Amino acid sequence: MTLEPLSKEARDPGPPLPEVEMHLHTPKSAGVGRVVRTERCTASGKSASFVRHVEIDVSGTDLAGRFRAGQSFGVLPPGEDDRGRPHSMRLYSIASPTAGEDGEGNVLATTVKRVIDEDWKDHTLKLGLCSNYLCNLQEGDEVRVTGPNGKRFLLPKDPGAHDYVFIATGTGIAPFRGMLTDLFAAGYEGSVTLIMGVPHRTDLLYHDDLEKLASEHANFTYLPVLSRENQDDGSPPCYVQNKLADPGAGLAEVLSSERSLVYLCGLAGMEVGVFQSLARMLEGAQLSRLLQVDAEAAGPIDDWNRKLVNRALKPTRRMFLEVY
Ligand code: NAP
Repeated sequence: MTLEPLSKEARDPGPPLPEVEMHLHTPKSAGVGRVVRTERCTASGKSASFVRHVEIDVSGTDLAGRFRAGQSFGVLPPGEDDRGRPHSMRLYSIASPTAGEDGEGNVLATTVKRVIDEDWKDHTLKLGLCSNYLCNLQEGDEVRVTGPNGKRFLLPKDPGAHDYVFIATGTGIAPFRGMLTDLFAAGYEGSVTLIMGVPHRTDLLYHDDLEKLASEHANFTYLPVLSRENQDDGSPPCYVQNKLADPGAGLAEVLSSERSLVYLCGLAGMEVGVFQSLARMLEGAQLSRLLQVDAEAAGPIDDWNRKLVNRALKPTRRMFLEVY
């Protein structure tokens, strides 16, 4: 399959986004929050991933009531690095709706996976500093926080004017948990689909909550995708981009609509695959509404690779990406 370069005239400014506050606390003026809940949020305790849902009470800090679903916040782990400097701040996606976990914006949550690795040279254990710090915190412990951060990965000002395709890998689910809650709290009546990719079904995050939400809202479709075992219907392992393009998921119609916005959060590796699926599913203006394909990328879609992302494959303002 080949593709002609698309003209730039189809580019639009995208939907207006709400004004948000940012950097109310910086590393030099960090706020102090307190952990009020911490629990594993994988579908099963048998998961090899240690992922926790951590709720932090930020009342009394400038973050209280002033973050929005989709934004991030910073965590300052205690201690110093090898050079004797304080450890740097790490950003985590807020997993809460705009009203927080408590309905008043005083408690924000994040979804954090313990980074556990082995040094490839000397095969010693490597533990992610901040992820393990956060996961080790007990209820009642204090934690230094900054933020909020981010003014782009947000639901638009008028959420009801759009349909949504949310695509997450692993802990990239965090902002979608908040956004889905925001949408349904506002009586959303459009169509929203969440494609969620993890290695095994035991690794699915917030799975029961998402199934419940889908059972309560006919306009919400929850599509879990397993990359290392067969799907529930017996079909083989696949990635989120395969589910996106699967005719059985029926997403071509949603994606071709002018109402649609696409959000990606999680592994940067999924970008190319998602772009390829979109290019195979959509034609002309339908595709250029979401993705600008420059001359360098014209040609076989199968040949697209990471090097072309940003250089010749440019998401439009109707696509929202938070990938690492
Ligand atoms: P995980 O549980 O390992 O799940 C990731 C899933 O994505 C696996 O099923 C994996 O499959 C699959 N995958 C790997 N390569 C892919 C590709 N090229 N295309 C599509 N799917 C692919 O995830 P995790 O450990 O939680 O990692 C999540 C990542 O998201 C982290 O890097 C984190 O930093 C990032 N994140 C970013 C934000 C943000 O930007 N705000 C927020 C949260 C998380 P296989 O392993 O079987 O190949």
